[in-house]
Amino acid sequence: MIDYEFLKAHSLNEALDYLGSYENVKVIAGGTDILVDIRKENERAKSLKYLLDISKLKELKFIEGRKDCMAIGALSTHTMLVESAVINKHFPLLVSAAKTIGSTQIRNRGTVGGNINNASPAADLLPPLIALKAHVKLRSAKGEREVLIDEFLAGPYRTNRQSGEIMTEVCVPLLGEGYFMNFQKIGRRKAMNIARLNLAIVLGINDGAIFDSRVVPGAATAYPMRFRKVEEAISGKDIKDIDLAEIGELASDEMISATGVRWSTPYKRIALASLVKRALETIFMEAKADE
Ligand SMILES: Cc1cc2nc3c(=O)[nH]c(=O)nc-3n(C[C@H](O)[C@H](O)[C@H](O)COP(=O)(O)OP(=O)(O)OC[C@H]3O[C@@H](n4cnc5c(N)ncnc54)[C@H](O)[C@@H]3O)c2cc1C
Repeated sequence: MIDYEFLKAHSLNEALDYLGSYENVKVIAGGTDILVDIRKENERAKSLKYLLDISKLKELKFIEGRKDCMAIGALSTHTMLVESAVINKHFPLLVSAAKTIGSTQIRNRGTVGGNINNASPAADLLPPLIALKAHVKLRSAKGEREVLIDEFLAGPYRTNRQSGEIMTEVCVPLLGEGYFMNFQKIGRRKAMNIARLNLAIVLGINDGAIFDSRVVPGAATAYPMRFRKVEEAISGKDIKDIDLAEIGELASDEMISATGVRWSTPYKRIALASLVKRALETIFMEAKADE
């Protein structure tokens, strides 16, 4: 059994004080990842001495449109994303991803900050947030810093967050005209379904030509990352000249060159190619309808 003391913060400053003065503290937000780790005595929770509850910090629970980005407080739940009119309007990709997370109960408790900081290779919000070029804000007693989300991730279940830091929000830059996006996910079943693969694609398309491409599979590599070869292969092309099957194959090749051949490769090779094809097909149809 992992033995720890429970601390509760009533303000962000109090939480930062605790983090600055105790060692081996982990924060708990919704608890849907960390409590499982503690119960299973996972290696990630073994050094834990203090669990710091930040769940009541109202200042971290908001969705707010700013001049150039949409700010999402770290304690915003998946349900808040699904129900937010502004997120539905600007980033339907995030809504599609959030809708697939766990169950109603998990979506009501699980937070955006928890999903990012847990940094699971299969986390459903990571591919969309990377494809949207989001950055995260981290606060400590020493000040605040901002990091692009793909630089924040350091490996499976690892981030570049320093001890003493709390993630306060994630900022998603607003996209200009001509952007289309799609999220795909497959797993072993339809509900309470951890992704076997997921995928976020964001494309800028003008007059049929792709001027910006971001392709981010999840659960395909050690941690979600942009597939640059796929992006380069479609950038600048007219959508009617793109061979979807070929691009799907390219994505599978890029996955295998990152991971090598694993037990799951025979399945994931075919599945990822299909997801990429499906996502691009959907986006191209929307782009054509928009012309
Ligand atoms: C039954 C079940 C089904 C699930 N299904 C899915 C699914 O389909 N897709 C999916 O992506 N996930 C799924 N999850 C995982 C989980 O629900 C999500 O990752 C959730 O978003 C985690 O948020 P949380 O607030 O509960 O995190 P917590 O468990 O509270 O924290 C997770 C980690 O993040 C750290 N942390 C949390 N907030 C902060 C912060 N503000 N600053 C710094 N560090 C922080 C914690 O210290 C901990 O290390 C599932 C979990 C369960 C139990």
